[in-house]
Amino acid sequence: MSSAREIAVIVGAGHAGAEVVAALRQNAYAGRIILIGDEAELPYRRPPLSKNYLSGEASRESLLIRSAAAYDKLEVECWIGTQVLAIDRVKKNILLSDGRIQAYTKLVLATGGRPRKLPDPAADKSNVHYIRTLADIDRLQSGFAKGKHLLVIGGGYIGLEAASVGIKNGLQVTVLEAAPRVLARVAAPEISAFYERAHRTRGVDVRTGISVQAFHGEQQVEAVQLSDGSELQVDLVIVGIGIVPNDELARSAGLEVNNGIVVDTFARTRDSDILAVGDCANHVNGFLTRLIRIESVPSAQEQGRTAAHSICGKDIPHVAVPWFWSDQFDLKLQMVGLSQGYDRLVLRGDLASESFSAFYLRNGIVLSVDAVNRPQDFMVAKRMVAERVQVDPQALADESISLKSLLPAA
Ligand SMILES: Cc1cc2nc3c(=O)[nH]c(=O)nc-3n(C[C@H](O)[C@H](O)[C@H](O)COP(=O)(O)OP(=O)(O)OC[C@H]3O[C@@H](n4cnc5c(N)ncnc54)[C@H](O)[C@@H]3O)c2cc1C
Repeated sequence: MSSAREIAVIVGAGHAGAEVVAALRQNAYAGRIILIGDEAELPYRRPPLSKNYLSGEASRESLLIRSAAAYDKLEVECWIGTQVLAIDRVKKNILLSDGRIQAYTKLVLATGGRPRKLPDPAADKSNVHYIRTLADIDRLQSGFAKGKHLLVIGGGYIGLEAASVGIKNGLQVTVLEAAPRVLARVAAPEISAFYERAHRTRGVDVRTGISVQAFHGEQQVEAVQLSDGSELQVDLVIVGIGIVPNDELARSAGLEVNNGIVVDTFARTRDSDILAVGDCANHVNGFLTRLIRIESVPSAQEQGRTAAHSICGKDIPHVAVPWFWSDQFDLKLQMVGLSQGYDRLVLRGDLASESFSAFYLRNGIVLSVDAVNRPQDFMVAKRMVAERVQVDPQALADESISLKSLLPAA
């Protein structure tokens, strides 16, 4: 039971932070709740930044996770535009960018991550962009115009999503991926090939195994020299080469940090009054039974709920199965589980029809699934992964056999 004298301070007003505050109240947390964020906005949804907000279809307001009135109703104080500079674990307080010091009973670090930057200082120009915040999109939108040549560096989800919006908005788009294929870290070669083909047939110039050797231009990058010796004229560059977890606050406070803030399956650091959730947390996932840092909205929300439970004295381990989605052109990809260690890929449906599911198996057990334009398959796939269902690969590939019938009887 919490008392009204307690103070829960959440650092980072993103997906995870927004979930923690709501889940605290849902679990009858009686103390004061303060949500602190260094961006100028109340928590908003980030996925549209490389999708329908970038294309201009979604309004700014539609991105908000909840309204200011909803936070008032939850009795959550939102201190936006405020950065937390340091944690004093002995005195149990934090130092804010406006000079104030705020005490806490429980502190939740939900600080997310920041884009990994290109190391070359010549790329530090006003038309080279990274996509993480609304402010990033505001900065790039005026140059994101019909007929311009957009160079996307990085063939991961964010880069490919930005490329697809670029084509939709009439830009000329080139994607450069240094690895031999796009999505190399997360998808099977067959799925990478599918996405490369899908982008090329829709007008994207996808180049793999190629990197930028030099950036040319004074105020702006005007051309890039590529590793195959060719040169490209560009108007705009979007870089999507991953993120770096914001774990410096924890590190300076002497907490364990290793590719993110290390926490247990209850979202606690070794200091049981400090928890960490979301993109910044290298957490023990009870389903995967190992430490992992996951960058996805569902994971940030699940971890947020785990932290709220822990604070409210109801220790419930974090056992969520990771899942994610990506929208490119008219292709809605939904993924569940992690494919690492798979020994067989089974396709259900036809790649050419752009509606299929790819099942990653190990010893016949479903490890993960990528479903493209197959929401019904995805619902069943989630159960298959969560329940570690063993399947007959032939039956899985046979569309005349219902996917549901391959689940064990309830
Ligand atoms: C363009 C884009 C597209 C994406 N698409 C998808 C998708 O389709 N599906 C999906 O599942 N996931 C997607 N993601 C990933 C998803 O958005 C993240 O996993 C999620 O935002 C993580 O939430 P978080 O709260 O941990 O971090 P964030 O949402 O990054 O929030 C952290 C907040 O903390 C603030 N902060 C950091 N340090 C401090 C400090 N010292 N003081 C105060 N505030 C601080 C940051 O500025 C930020 O506002 C996408 C991400 C991006 C950028």
